[in-house]
Amino acid sequence: MTDTAASVRHVPADLPTRIQHYIDGRFVDSLDGGTFDVLDPVSNEVYARAAAGKKADIDHAVAAARRAFEEGPWPRMLPRERSRVLHRIADIVESRDARLAELESFDSGLPITQALGQARRAAENFRFFADLVVAQADDTFKVPGRQINYVNRKPIGVAGLITPWNTPFMLESWKLGPALATGNTVVLKPAEFTPLSASLWAGIFEEAGLPRGVFNLVNGLGEDAGDALVRHPDVPLISFTGESRTGQIIFGNAAPHLKGLSMELGGKSPAVVFADADLDAAIDATVFGVFSLNGERCTAGSRILVQREVYDEFVERYAAQAKRVKVGYPHDPATEVGALVHPEHFEKVMSYVEIGKGEGRLVAGGGRPEGFKSGNFVAPTVFADVAPDARIFQEEIFGPVVAITPFDTDEEALALANDTKYGLAAYVWTNDLKRAHNFAQAVEAGMVWLNSNNVRDLRTPFGGVKASGLGHEGGYRSIDFYTHQQAVHITLGKVHNPTFGK
Ligand code: NAD
Repeated sequence: MTDTAASVRHVPADLPTRIQHYIDGRFVDSLDGGTFDVLDPVSNEVYARAAAGKKADIDHAVAAARRAFEEGPWPRMLPRERSRVLHRIADIVESRDARLAELESFDSGLPITQALGQARRAAENFRFFADLVVAQADDTFKVPGRQINYVNRKPIGVAGLITPWNTPFMLESWKLGPALATGNTVVLKPAEFTPLSASLWAGIFEEAGLPRGVFNLVNGLGEDAGDALVRHPDVPLISFTGESRTGQIIFGNAAPHLKGLSMELGGKSPAVVFADADLDAAIDATVFGVFSLNGERCTAGSRILVQREVYDEFVERYAAQAKRVKVGYPHDPATEVGALVHPEHFEKVMSYVEIGKGEGRLVAGGGRPEGFKSGNFVAPTVFADVAPDARIFQEEIFGPVVAITPFDTDEEALALANDTKYGLAAYVWTNDLKRAHNFAQAVEAGMVWLNSNNVRDLRTPFGGVKASGLGHEGGYRSIDFYTHQQAVHITLGKVHNPTFGK
């Protein structure tokens, strides 16, 4: 293959060249007419211009969402009625999974087969919350002969949803599903690197019968549109997924309004391989765990800690397998690692590859893959013998780059696993039952997978500790985040009434 990225890129049919906001049931431009360029990551050429939302556009969208919340039918509909709309949304997403995947893959650089999996997961998110709100039961408490208390659960209002560019459509569904199922109205601000798939929600929702004004979409830069959404006084809750640093800024900007915040942030998750593990399974899982989704994955196992007895064998086999991972054009079904989302992100990942060369022993990759002289392609890169104070051990790279570090004892493994500011996920490979559970319970991570790849049941809590996040979503926790639980107290017996001022 030669340097022909631009000529071999696959351009989907009917690709839009203009991406607008969607406010109050209409596609609109920015009030000031501003736009920003959208590139595809294979050619890095501008393929579309997206409306660049500012405060005035956010005000417009929030006003529409507020009107739909206060006057429209959506918050007042029976859960079963809302559930039907959500199931129709899931049906439509499923029926268009190939087209969604094609556009997502083109815009984000994700391999097409993985983008297809993400589209199906997006449908599943809607289906899951459609079922959950129908099955939802709330607490009642009885004090015999005296009192009954019950929980009156209600939607909160306009939910502000701010999402990142990795698996954008799926991550949007992860917030849209529960926010809408519970009767809120929303303003979505998708990531500026990947606005294409978000613009498809509008048509899908209209077709499924979501009332006008319930879903609003404002594109734009984080510091403009995102910031205005965070500071808007009529938006009582913000669900954010993105970098830890951005989460801190949002936290500060939301503080004067005391908003409800859900923060799903960055990670530098350890995969710990003990000498007694099934090494074949551990190698397959740890290769997939960091190189799938181009390594642009919050729960990537990007630090692999390996017990000394099997360290040399592991590194040798791991490096050999990493070299065989197929880097390719995102639209090619054989591709396992595609193109990174944007040239800015590519530069960031490449700078870590260079830093890594001074911090560890390079055993695979280390630059562009052969045959890809342009486009945002990075060869799966493996550094061994990485010390815990190395930047590539401590900092989130968010690309196909992994650090491997040896350990001797369980205690040392735990100390190394916990030795970063992050605490999103951890993966443990061992056949010793006690060790597995003791390690899982002690590791500072919101989610742990034992002898398992990252496979998640939608009912389980999702969220990180330390710099990886605040709050949990997933299953009923998402329902809790998007609702008020009002306690109603009723006296049954004699009124307990101390009389003042007799
Ligand atoms: P980012 O923080 O740069 O941007 C995320 C979103 O926030 C974008 O829509 C952006 O426009 C917006 N934004 C930026 N500045 C803002 C501001 N001041 N006010 C309001 N909004 C603002 O993150 P990214 O680079 O798009 O995504 C990658 C990051 O997301 C990684 O750190 C990754 O680990 C994390 N992530 C976490 C999870 C999780 O569930 N924990 C999932 C996916 C990604």
